[in-house]
Amino acid sequence: MTRVEIKYTKLFINNEWVDAVSKKTFPTINPQDETVITQVAEGDKADIDKAVSAAKKAFHRYSEWRTLDASQRGRLLLKLADLMERDVKYLAQLETLDCGKPVKNAENEILWSAGVVRYYAGKADKILGNTIPADGEVLTFTLKEPVGVCGQILPWNYPIPMFIWKVAPVLATGCTTVIKPAEQSPLTALALAALIKEAGVPAGVVNVVPGYGPTAGAAITHHPDVDKVAFTGSTEVGRIIMSAAAAVNLKRITLELGGKSPLVICNDADVEKAAILAHNAAFSNGGQCCVAGTRTYVQSGIYDKFVEKAAEIARKRSVGNPFENVDQGPQIDQDMFDKVMGYIDAGKKAGAKCVVGGGRIGQVGYYIQPTVFADVKDDMKIAREEIFGPVQSILKFDTLEEMIDRANDTDYGLGAGIVTNDITAALTFVKHVRAGSTWINLYEHVVAQTPFGGFKQSGLGREMGEEGIQQYLENKTVTISLPKKPF
Ligand code: NAD
Repeated sequence: MTRVEIKYTKLFINNEWVDAVSKKTFPTINPQDETVITQVAEGDKADIDKAVSAAKKAFHRYSEWRTLDASQRGRLLLKLADLMERDVKYLAQLETLDCGKPVKNAENEILWSAGVVRYYAGKADKILGNTIPADGEVLTFTLKEPVGVCGQILPWNYPIPMFIWKVAPVLATGCTTVIKPAEQSPLTALALAALIKEAGVPAGVVNVVPGYGPTAGAAITHHPDVDKVAFTGSTEVGRIIMSAAAAVNLKRITLELGGKSPLVICNDADVEKAAILAHNAAFSNGGQCCVAGTRTYVQSGIYDKFVEKAAEIARKRSVGNPFENVDQGPQIDQDMFDKVMGYIDAGKKAGAKCVVGGGRIGQVGYYIQPTVFADVKDDMKIAREEIFGPVQSILKFDTLEEMIDRANDTDYGLGAGIVTNDITAALTFVKHVRAGSTWINLYEHVVAQTPFGGFKQSGLGREMGEEGIQQYLENKTVTISLPKKPF
C-alpha cells in the first residue's frame, strides 16, 4: 500500500489550524481497503460560527482584503496556481488515497484546476460595470461589488476541481468564504488551504471546515451572515439548501446538482469511435460524475454493432489499485457501493440485458465491475435515476424527433451529446434538448472559459466562464444628478 504523508487534519479558520470546539473528530476512510486513513477535526455549528465571523471580519470595508487592488488579487491567484503545480505529485497522491481515483487522473485534475485558477486570476481586474444612458438629467453607471461572505459546500467526486471552482471566483471578486468539503474527502481541501495561506491570502478570506452535512453544512446554509451559498451535490440536498436560504435571509444560491444525461449516437457515426466516446462519457471517474453520459441512445441501424463494441471496450477497462496505471479505482464509500450495486440489481430484475460486468470485484474495497446494460427501456429505474457508478445503459431509437422527446423526458438537464456528421440533425438536437451543456461529436469538454450548470432539477446558476464570475457579484446602480444632461 502506498504511504502518503498527512500534514493537515484540523480546521482551517482565520489562517490557523484549530481543533473543533467540541474536540470531536471523524474518520476518513480509504476506499481501497476500507481502513481508517486518519481522524479529521469535525466542525459543527460552533466552528461554522467562528469561521463565518472570521470571513465577515476579513470582508470589513477597511480590511486588508477589501482595500487590495484587484490586480493584486489576480497575483495571489497566479501564485496559488504555481503552488498547485509545485505540489502536484503530493496532492494527487493524497487525493487518490482519500477518494480512490487513479493517481494519473488526479494529477490531470490538479493541472486542469491550476488552469482554472489562472483563468480567474486574469478576470480579477477585468470586472466591469456599465455606463447607462438613463432618462433624466443624470449620469448613471453600475458598480460590480463582491457579494460578501460565501458558504461553499463541496462533493467528493472531484474534490480538488470543485474546491477550485468555488474558491477561485471568490478570490477574483474579493469575496470571503467558509468551505465545507465532503466528509468522504476532506484531506485535499485542507492541503489547498495551506497553499492559499502560503500564497499570501490574508487571514479569514478562506476558511475550511470539514464536517457532516446536516451539522456543519446546515449551519452554513442557516447562517444569517452568509450572503451566498454555492453547492455541488445531490438534487435532494440542493432542495434543502434552497429552502434554508429562502427561510433565513434569501441568501443567493448557486446549485450544481445531479444529472441523467443523454448521449445520442446516429446511424452515420463511426461505430468504433462513437463507442469509445460513449464509454468515456459513461465511465470516466468510475461513473461518479454529475454530467456522465449515462443514457446512451443508439439509432437502430447500428444498434447491434454498437452494443458489441461497447461491451468489448468495457471488458478491457482496467480496474484496481488506483496508485497503479489503471482506468478505474474503487467507488468512494460503502453507501455509494451499495447504491450502485442496488441499481445493477434493479436493471437485471427489470429485464435489461447485462452484457458486461454486473458484480463486485474482490471482497475488500469498493470495487465494481464496469457494467453495460443493453435493451434498456425509458421507464426502467436505471434509465431514470442517477446511478453515480460504472454503469452504462444503452437504449435504441429510430428517429431524431422521437429521440428529442425521449432525451428530454427527465427531471434533469445537465449535459447532452450527439454523434453525427449531419450538422442539421446535430443543431436541431442541440436547439431542442433541455440541458446546460451540449456537445457535438465529443463529450464532457468542460473548460474554464465555458459556463457550466443545469436546466431543470440539475441546478441553478452557472459556474466557470464570465457567468461564473457574475454569480459572485452584486450589481449596484449609481445615479448622479446633473444640472444639464451631459451626453
Ligand atoms: P450530498 O448531496 O449528500 O452531499 C454533498 C455535500 O453536501 C457534502 O459536503 C455533504 O456533507 C453536504 N450536505 C449533505 N446534507 C446537507 C445538508 N442538509 N445541508 C447542507 N449540506 C449538506 O451527496 P452525496 O451523499 O455525497 O451523494 C449522494 C448523491 O449525490 C450521489 O448519488 C449523486 O447522485 C449525487 N452527487 C452529485 C454530485 C454532482 O457533482 N452533481 C456530486 C456528488 C454527489
